[in-house]
Amino acid sequence: MYKTHGYAAQNAQSPLAPFQFERRNLREHDVHIDVMFCGVCHSDLHQARNEWSNSVYPVVPGHEIVGRVTEVGSGVTRHKVGDLVGVGCLVDSCRTCASCQEGLEQYCENGFVGTYNGVDRVTGETTYGGYSTNLVVDEAFVLRVPDNLDPAGVAPLLCAGITTYSPLRTWGAGPGKKVGVIGLGGLGHMGVKLARAMGAHVVLFTTSASKIEDAKRLGAHEVVISKHADEMQAHQNSFDLLINTVSAQHDLNPFIALLKRDGTMTLVGAPEHDHPSPQVFSLIMKRRRLAGSLIGGIAETQEMLDFCGQHGITSDIEMISMQNINEAYGRMMKSDVKYRFVIDINSLRQ
Ligand code: NAP
Ligand code: ZN
Ligand code: ZN
Repeated sequence: MYKTHGYAAQNAQSPLAPFQFERRNLREHDVHIDVMFCGVCHSDLHQARNEWSNSVYPVVPGHEIVGRVTEVGSGVTRHKVGDLVGVGCLVDSCRTCASCQEGLEQYCENGFVGTYNGVDRVTGETTYGGYSTNLVVDEAFVLRVPDNLDPAGVAPLLCAGITTYSPLRTWGAGPGKKVGVIGLGGLGHMGVKLARAMGAHVVLFTTSASKIEDAKRLGAHEVVISKHADEMQAHQNSFDLLINTVSAQHDLNPFIALLKRDGTMTLVGAPEHDHPSPQVFSLIMKRRRLAGSLIGGIAETQEMLDFCGQHGITSDIEMISMQNINEAYGRMMKSDVKYRFVIDINSLRQ
C-alpha cells in the first residue's frame, strides 16, 4: 500500500481539509503516479457538496491530473517509469459492452468507474481523486502528455479540454461552421480555444462584461453579453452548434432561438437543478436539436491531447496551493475563475 496525503470533504457542508489514506498495491496492469498538478473542475465542487445527490464521503475530488510514473506493475507495456502522464475522469470501465468496444468508456453500459466518487470494480471501494500526492491507475486509463506543453496547463485538458473537444468533433465544428460557446469558465475557455483551432467561426456568450477582452484574446471572433436582448437578437437563426457550459440552471430558450435550421445546442454544464423545459415549438419549427455530451473516451482524450500538442494549446491557469482550495471554490461560485484553478500538489508535500 502507498501512504497518500490528500484533501477531502467529509460531508456536503464541510470545507475540504487534510485527509490521509492508502492507495492499493499495484495490480498487474497498474501504474503508480506521483501527482504534480490537479485542475479544479466545477464538478469537484458539485460533488464535494453533494449537488448531484450521489456523493459518498469522504470525497477526495480531482480528475484533471498530471504527474510522473514512478512504478509500474509486472504486465504494464504502455507506460514506463519517468513518463509524464495524465489521468482524467475515468479510471476503469467494463471494457466489454458495446460502448466500451467503441472506445466510448464514458458511456459504459455497466457504469464507468470515476476517478473519484466511483466504485472500484475489484474491491468495491470508493475511488479517491487527484487532490492527493499519488495515484494508482490501470495503464489503459493513463494518457500520454505531449512533451512540448506546460504540464500545469495540460492538467485542465483532462476534463475541461476533452468535454468541449468531444462535442465539437461529434457535431463537426470546423471551417464554415458558426459555433457558440456559452459561459467563459474552465470548460468555456477551452471550448473557445479548441473551436478556434478547428477553424470554426467562434462566438462566446457570457454574463460577465468583464470577460469580453479575455474572450477575444482566447480566440473568440465575437463576444455577446447574453443578458442583452438586442445583442442576442442579432444572432438569431445563425448557429450550427452551441456548446452550453453553464454550471447553473437557466432559461435555454434565448439560446435555442440562435440555432439555424438543424442546428444543435449541446449541454455539457451539469447544474444541481435541471433547466426548465424549453419551448417545444422553437425546436419543432426549425428541426433544432437539444443534446448532451459526457467528457470523452480514452482514445478521443489522447487524440485531444495530441491535437493540443500540435496546436500549442493549454489552459489559462491560476496556480493555487492545496491549502487555498476552499477560497478557490468560493470564487468559482461567483464565476471568478480565470480560467482554471490548478493545484500545485507539491504544496501537499511540505
Ligand atoms: P466554471 O469554471 O465555474 O464556469 C462556469 C461558467 O458558467 C461561469 O464562469 C459563468 O460564465 C457561467 N455561469 C455560472 N453561473 C451562471 C448563471 N447562473 N447564469 C449564467 N451563466 C452562469 O465551471 P466549469 O468547470 O467550466 O464547469 C461547467 C459545468 O460543466 C459544471 O456544471 C460542471 O459540473 C460541468 N461539467 C460537465 C462535464 C460533462 O462531461 N458534461 C464535464 C466537466 C464539467 P460567464 O461568467 O462567462 O457567464
Ligand atoms: Zn471535470
Ligand atoms: Zn462497458
